[in-house]
Amino acid sequence: MAKVEPKEQRCRAIQVTPGKAHSARLGEEPYAKPTQGEIGLKVLLVGICGTDAEIEAGLYGEAPPGEDHLVPGHESLCEVEDVGPGVVGFQPGDLVVPIVRRPCPENCEPCSRGRWDMCLTGDYSERGIAKLHGMLREHLTDEAAHCVLLPGDLRDVGVLVEPLSIVEKAIEETMLIQRRTGLAPRRALVTGAGPIGLLAALCLRGRGIAVDVLDQRPAGSPKAEIARAAGAGYIDDSKTPLEQATDGTFYDLVLEASGYAPLVFRALRRLGRNGAMVLTGVTAGHHKIELDVDALNQEMVLENQVLVGSVNAARQHYEAAVRDLKAWQETFPGLAARLITARHPLSSFEAALTKDPDGIKSVVEVAGR
Ligand SMILES: [Zn+2]
Ligand SMILES: [Zn+2]
Repeated sequence: MAKVEPKEQRCRAIQVTPGKAHSARLGEEPYAKPTQGEIGLKVLLVGICGTDAEIEAGLYGEAPPGEDHLVPGHESLCEVEDVGPGVVGFQPGDLVVPIVRRPCPENCEPCSRGRWDMCLTGDYSERGIAKLHGMLREHLTDEAAHCVLLPGDLRDVGVLVEPLSIVEKAIEETMLIQRRTGLAPRRALVTGAGPIGLLAALCLRGRGIAVDVLDQRPAGSPKAEIARAAGAGYIDDSKTPLEQATDGTFYDLVLEASGYAPLVFRALRRLGRNGAMVLTGVTAGHHKIELDVDALNQEMVLENQVLVGSVNAARQHYEAAVRDLKAWQETFPGLAARLITARHPLSSFEAALTKDPDGIKSVVEVAGR
């Protein structure tokens, strides 16, 4: 007699009720055997960031259509368990990272050519954030076409691929803009030494650019140590304000990753001739500052400056992230792994959300160690 395989299995998962503060609980989710074009995944690690904290606080997030809850988790590292029919290039045991954003149903022009990060309708879905369950669960099934394959030796840092894809896009944007000048950027300032800021510092150093990283932690803090280990300078803005620390120095490129709006405009004034500044942080609150807008306008015009915002990432940026993590094994051995400063089991997801000023990236070990 033929063995009858169960069509649907269940696994442990974190569930939240979007719009409701502190609703996170450990529940169960179904997962199906992969069908045409799909792969079955075992989730190994999930990185936690500010977006997850906002979802847990009930400020952000949207359940899949027809459901009352959302499984959060968008930064992940998974292992292929099962390969559905018609899938080529994936084998059980392979490491993969599912791409967070998926094209809008209208399939707008950017979405139709794989640039869902530039979606025009805003109707896109995002795993673990909007309309699609995320990876804070033991197993899931996903379309192979929306997964990125990783070399097996990136197991310890592969969970950084998604946040690094955000950085890769932001840097690509500024490099495209700077092509107008015919000059490669030589000096860069990175504001904020969280995961995005430190990954940006590594990326820029890897491209031979002199980098200063700014944060508000002391010079002996882990964030400062990682910046210096990457060959970057470090500015503790709480001790020596940016304006004083960089007196007379102006930057060709500024990457803003602090998510603190008043700092955005201070850093903008440190931009040099033909400089470009890219904003990656979503700023919370409604800070008011006084700004000499005439001076700012004059400077930006007379110095050919560009200010650009950048969000999300396309497949090409995930692939660039994989290439950089691979290259850093030679250029910055062991450094990227130091960004992971806390590990929690799935059952204590909430503990992973607690902020430690010296912590960088918290991860949930879904599959255990
Ligand atoms: Zn994130
Ligand atoms: Zn679209």
